[in-house]
Amino acid sequence: MENFWRKCGSCKKEIGFNVVYQACSVSSCSKFAYCSVDCWDQHNPIMNHKSAWAEERRSPRQQDIVHATPDAPRRIIVNQTSASANEQEVLIVASKLKQYIKDKYDMNTSASVMDILSHHVRRLTDQAVSKAQTDGRKTLMDRDF
Ligand SMILES: [Zn+2]
Ligand SMILES: [Zn+2]
Repeated sequence: MENFWRKCGSCKKEIGFNVVYQACSVSSCSKFAYCSVDCWDQHNPIMNHKSAWAEERRSPRQQDIVHATPDAPRRIIVNQTSASANEQEVLIVASKLKQYIKDKYDMNTSASVMDILSHHVRRLTDQAVSKAQTDGRKTLMDRDF
């Protein structure tokens, strides 16, 4: 992330957060920020303003920008993340499965095995649930598998 707010419209010097800057009173120029009245004055003849003045303003605080800008979209992203996190959650007790494989076959188990087994468990569960739903039940039972 940038650690300044904007660059001066004339000299390109960085204007930090929560500092005084000069803005042009003409609304089409208000998106520009100038570090000083002199810098504001430089754009005045270029833009050919008939009557314009520099307005002293304060740039926003950095934390305000961080919190204010992508608020609504960020909430959507959080929802998506929690939904897909749910879909990727490990459902297997890794330590017990590793112990079982170790004891029975004297083999190690890679961590990604938990992911793929969780995937299979989820799919089997999905199928079983739809069977239970077809029967009009609210309880998932062993015979659904
Ligand atoms: Zn400047
Ligand atoms: Zn202007």
